[in-house]
Amino acid sequence: MIYDFHTHTYLTDGSNSPIELIRIAIVSGYKCIAITDHVSYSNLDFIISRVGKDCQLAKKYWDIDAILGVELTNVPAKSINDMARDAKELGAKLVVVHGESIVEDVEPGTNLEAVKSEYVDILAHPGIFTSKEAEFAVKNGIFIEISYRVGHSLTNGVVANIGREAGVRFLIDSDAHSHLDLFRPGIQEKVGLGCGLKKDEIKEIFEKNYKLFFKRINY
Ligand SMILES: [Zn+2]
Ligand SMILES: [Zn+2]
Repeated sequence: MIYDFHTHTYLTDGSNSPIELIRIAIVSGYKCIAITDHVSYSNLDFIISRVGKDCQLAKKYWDIDAILGVELTNVPAKSINDMARDAKELGAKLVVVHGESIVEDVEPGTNLEAVKSEYVDILAHPGIFTSKEAEFAVKNGIFIEISYRVGHSLTNGVVANIGREAGVRFLIDSDAHSHLDLFRPGIQEKVGLGCGLKKDEIKEIFEKNYKLFFKRINY
C-alpha cells in the first residue's frame, strides 16, 4: 500500500482535478494521498476550502485516506511560520514547505525558517541540505522529504546523508503534478535505495515513520 504526502492538482500547476487524482491513486495502489497545492495568501483560503471538499467526498465513499494539505511556495522566508499557522487554522491538516531545490530559486533561508516552525510538517526538496537545518528538523519533529520529482531529486543523496547524521525522519513523496507522476508499486523503495538509504532505513519509513507522521498531524 502506497502512502504519498505531496501532490498537486489543476487548482495550481498540476493537471488533474483533486477527485480525479485521488481516484487514480486508488487504482494505482494508494492507501493514502495528501493533496498539497502551492499556496500563498492569494489562494490559501480558496485551496483549503475547495480541496477539503473533495478529500471529504473521497473518504466518505472510497477506501482512501485523502488528506487536505498545502505547500507554501516561494513565500518570504520570514513569513513561513505565520502562514503555516494560518493554513492550519483554516483547516489544512498538513503543511509542506517548498524548500531550496537547486532547480528553483526560492529565497535563501526558506529551509531554516521551515524547520524552525512548529506548524510545518514536511520540508520538501531542501536542495543542499545542511546539518544546522537537519538539527532543527529533528528538534521540532519535522519530516524531511526524499523526492521522486525530476530535478528536485538531484540532491536526494545529500539530503539522505546529512539527514541520517542528524537523525531526521524521512518520507519518500512523489510531488506528482499529474497522475502519470504517481508512484507505481515498488518505486518508492527504489527511490530510497537510489539516494543511498539502506533497506532497513526504508523499512523504517514504511513501518514507523508513517505512524509517527499521522500522530504529528493528528490524523
Ligand atoms: Zn515544491
Ligand atoms: Zn510540490
